[in-house]
Order: sequence, then C-alpha cells, then structure tokens
Amino acid sequence: MADTKRVLVAEDNDANYSLVAYVLARQGLAVYRARDGQETLEMASEDPPDLLLMDVQMPKIDGLEVTRRLRQLPATHSLPIVVVTALAMRGDQQRAVAAGCDAYLAKPVSPTQLIEMTQRFLAPTNGDS
Ligand code: MN
Repeated sequence: MADTKRVLVAEDNDANYSLVAYVLARQGLAVYRARDGQETLEMASEDPPDLLLMDVQMPKIDGLEVTRRLRQLPATHSLPIVVVTALAMRGDQQRAVAAGCDAYLAKPVSPTQLIEMTQRFLAPTNGDS
C-alpha cells in the first residue's frame, strides 16, 4: 500500500535487528536496516524514513553522532528518531536527548514498549504527507 509507513532500523547486531524487525513487521510496517553509522547517515538522508530507530554503539559512526548530523540536514531536521540505549543508563539517555533524538528505548527492547513507541510517532494523521 502506498501509505505503508517505513521504519529504518540502525542496528549492527543481527539478533537485536531480528527481534525489532519481527515486531514491527507484525504491525504492518515496512522495515529495513542500516548496519553501521555511515550507512545510517546515507540511507536516512537520501530517502528519509517515517521513523528511525537508532542503535548507539555501531561501527564507523556511533548513533548519537549520526543523530547530531541528521539534525543539521534539512531533509532529516525533524525526522522522528528514537535512540535505543543499552541498559537505560541515565547518562546515555541524557546524551541521546542532547544529540537531538525525540525519545529513547531501553535495551533489551520490550516488544510492548516498541509498539507503543512506534504508534506514538506513526499514528495516522489527517491528510497525507
Ligand atoms: Mn550496536
């Protein structure tokens, strides 16, 4: 369908990606993947998704730095970005917010929280965009 929402998952770990992709696909979302920070930066800026789930620890460029750079680009200045932080460390969350994310999720990811988060950012709105 033309209005299927697209979620880019930036995640270098196969098992983590598999869980997130499974949960999101069951929500009827189109899920695709970036495996490192450089790839995330390129894919998100060239064809912005409807939502970006951002791992922090990734090869080449970490997720917080990718978030900062995306915020400086017109195409992704207001793209919804949810940072996924290991162990929900308070310092990580503060750094994620400072980098410009909209929200954060703790690892290991709870499917219930993941669904709530995606619905929050991908809720149907009046009018297409
Ligand atoms: Mn990682």
